[in-house]
Amino acid sequence: MKKNQIVELEITDLSYEAMGVAHYEGLTIFVNNALPGEVVKAKILKVKKKFAFAKIEEIIKESPDRINVKLNQWVQTGLASLAHIKYDKQLEFKRNQVVNLLKKAHLDDVKVDETLASPEEKGYRNKAQVPVREVNGQLEIGFFRRHSHDLVPLTNFFTTDPEIDRVLVATRDILRKYNVPAYDEIHNKGEVRYLDVRRSKSTGEIMVILVCLHKDFEQLPKVAEEISQIEGVTSVILNHNPKKTNVILGKNDYVVRGNDHITDQIGDVKFRISPKSFFQINSLQTPRLYDLAIKKADLKPSDVVIDAYSGIGTIGLSVAKHVKAVRGMETIKDAVRDANKNAKLNGIDNAQYVTGKAEEVMPRWASEGLKTDVIFVDPPRKGLTPEFIDAAVVTKPKKIVYISCNPATQVRDMQLLMEKGYKFNEVSPVDMFPQTPHVESVAVLTK
Ligand code: SAH
Repeated sequence: MKKNQIVELEITDLSYEAMGVAHYEGLTIFVNNALPGEVVKAKILKVKKKFAFAKIEEIIKESPDRINVKLNQWVQTGLASLAHIKYDKQLEFKRNQVVNLLKKAHLDDVKVDETLASPEEKGYRNKAQVPVREVNGQLEIGFFRRHSHDLVPLTNFFTTDPEIDRVLVATRDILRKYNVPAYDEIHNKGEVRYLDVRRSKSTGEIMVILVCLHKDFEQLPKVAEEISQIEGVTSVILNHNPKKTNVILGKNDYVVRGNDHITDQIGDVKFRISPKSFFQINSLQTPRLYDLAIKKADLKPSDVVIDAYSGIGTIGLSVAKHVKAVRGMETIKDAVRDANKNAKLNGIDNAQYVTGKAEEVMPRWASEGLKTDVIFVDPPRKGLTPEFIDAAVVTKPKKIVYISCNPATQVRDMQLLMEKGYKFNEVSPVDMFPQTPHVESVAVLTK
């Protein structure tokens, strides 16, 4: 098999990255945007020892699960790589990820619920981070084509709140008007690297963060003034990122106009959100995720609860009024400050958050003799560490509620917890990220 060869393939499966899978002359072939049940003519893009990558040239037999047969920009650029699949099939795809991982771990008897659908299938994101580059002599916003830094100019980001798209485009036009240069990553020159825009669904407040190479530039006062006049914008922040790096945000934020935070609400709890603080991006689905996790926790008024990997305290503060005490930890200092301020803002006096790594704070609390009843964990993709798990178990929780954005590490960690005498009977996938292959899931481990 060679590059550029055209082959006819029958697609039999979908990879976890949502690529169509076919087998041909002993090779596994991953075909972009192809669906199981389809027969396609595909062009080989890359050949490795045991597998190859290909793209569709022609669909010979089409799957009934396919929509948007003409591939759109978003699909191509990888912004929404499931957008060609009917929504109910996307939900099935996500559930299957969890089922297959459990099977591999010989946990076939665990029940996997249907994936909880998102109330909005498009336009659900309350935050967008979009690169700014010069394309054909003009400043553009858009999205990097998959596996590259080629900017595809876009004005409709598909999964993002249309109100955010409106602000992104208006900000782009202001930058053009004042001839602010886009960032040039090859020479580490120019100015604006990214636009980072967040919108509170409950208050409508919008934060615009200009991620810039310099702390200040000539046109900044005028640019910031005009951005602050875009409808809904309540803060204009400059994030200073002087380094030659792929990391989006730099260390320091400067408020140029308006407030240093926006305020949002989940259920009846209000939250202030700083530029660096994590906040769940699907506003309508988040309360449903938390309700599910909290219901499964079966909390009692006498319970001592841990909110680990807390962000701005969204989970702990949602339950604080129904339990004895909440303690939480998180690595981002600004997020911890938000969490403690959020407690005050909501009249909560039994919740306390500290800055630190969960795998260091938990052992400290355990060695101080802390006893817990319920531990919520919501780690990033890499999951928990054995140090965290060992210490968590020492505090003797009756329940551990595990919210995960990566079922592979979740299953791995749950196996470790099973060795420590915990068991779990079911996992509930929740769709926080429609049109993308990302899977969120909730599991409860009981002593
Ligand atoms: N529970 C929150 C945040 C979940 S995201 C919510 O639902 O909004 C995961 C959080 O873990 C992020 O805020 C991230 O900053 C934090 N984090 C990452 N590594 C960590 C670590 N080692 N210890 C503690 N927190 C960590």
